[in-house]
Amino acid sequence: MSVTIKDLPDVEYVFPGAAACAGCPSTIALRIVGKALGENAIMIMTPSCAVASIGPLPKSCYTISVLNICFASAGASAAGLTMVLDALYEKGRLKGEKPTVFNWAGDGGTYDIGFQDISAAAERNDDFIHAIPAGNFPQATPLK
Ligand code: SF4
Repeated sequence: MSVTIKDLPDVEYVFPGAAACAGCPSTIALRIVGKALGENAIMIMTPSCAVASIGPLPKSCYTISVLNICFASAGASAAGLTMVLDALYEKGRLKGEKPTVFNWAGDGGTYDIGFQDISAAAERNDDFIHAIPAGNFPQATPLK
């Protein structure tokens, strides 16, 4: 079944007042990702504009749970969190639908300093989503 942007709910997980630049494509993308995943999600962020866009504490523009982690550990952090959740469900300490764990990382946290544990998580087929705002992909360079 295909889902279009019109099928997404009206509920907002990114509120106005984010500290990102006006019209920031990363924040707009995150708004859509939030609508697609729903409130039962845990977002892990490596250092990036997305972290700065949360705004000054104690306020936050995001209404889903957010973990700020160090640059090189997106894969290890997401893998560890999903394993902890699995253990808590196994022991009966958590009930209901398991939250979706997803990374919101940039180029550094993905294919530079973060590559080793993303690679290891892929090798283990760990249960999380790794998302990269489209603007962070390297430009295709023509060979000629
Ligand atoms: S990614 Fe950062 S610099 Fe680029 S528009 Fe968003 S907040 Fe501004």
